[in-house]
Amino acid sequence: MESAGPLAADLGVRPVACGISVPGVVRRADGHVHEAPNLRWSDVALGTRLTRALDMPVVVGNDAELGALAENLRGRATGASDVVFVSADIGVGGGVIAQSASLRGGAGYLGEIGHMAVHPGGRPCYCGSTGCWETEVGEAAFCRALGLPETSSRGRVVAALRALRADDEGARRRLGDLAEWLTLGLVNVVNLFGPELVVLGDLFTELPTPVLDDVDRAVRARSLVSRALGGVRVRTSALGTDVKLLGAAEAAFEDVLDTV
Ligand SMILES: [Zn+2]
Repeated sequence: MESAGPLAADLGVRPVACGISVPGVVRRADGHVHEAPNLRWSDVALGTRLTRALDMPVVVGNDAELGALAENLRGRATGASDVVFVSADIGVGGGVIAQSASLRGGAGYLGEIGHMAVHPGGRPCYCGSTGCWETEVGEAAFCRALGLPETSSRGRVVAALRALRADDEGARRRLGDLAEWLTLGLVNVVNLFGPELVVLGDLFTELPTPVLDDVDRAVRARSLVSRALGGVRVRTSALGTDVKLLGAAEAAFEDVLDTV
């Protein structure tokens, strides 16, 4: 909040709206953050507080929903009317575009696909359940697959993934279990939402190409809906780490245009 003024002065522009991306369960109408476990937030009136502090309209959205918006407007999913974006930034989340509109469910709480229960008797999850998809394909699962401590930095995980690029068979061996869990969850996601394509963001973009190709092929073969649609594609984001920030800016801009 303190940096908004100096930043605007540096840019030489007058900000007219603000977009915020939050990795958590967000009520879109007023930007209330119900839960953001990775930030250790619960019941934070973020939208109201920022609107007052910044004296401008503020849009607060779930990070995966904003990622889906950015991919749809500027990324891999440009021109597609039905898209699922899957984020993997510590937690795993989903943003869904259905018939060219963000699918939000009741009050904006939708897309917590990381907490699909996929593994009976699996690991406990911070959400209170066990065997959530996130426990099998989130950052900690990447660490386990790569033989790293679960507390490893993102940089170390990415470096280990990139080291596998020159060794296709080694990559398949190391990441086979994770790829199988990724496939299983994506088959569920595709069967539920019937998208034209699924865009994988964050850590998933660092998976070696042969592993991604295996997942893409397996989802097409094993999803009933994918077969009916003629083959749902699984692709990685090309917008990099800024994808959610681009989405936040687009969401804020959409609201400005709505008032013109
Ligand atoms: Zn969970």
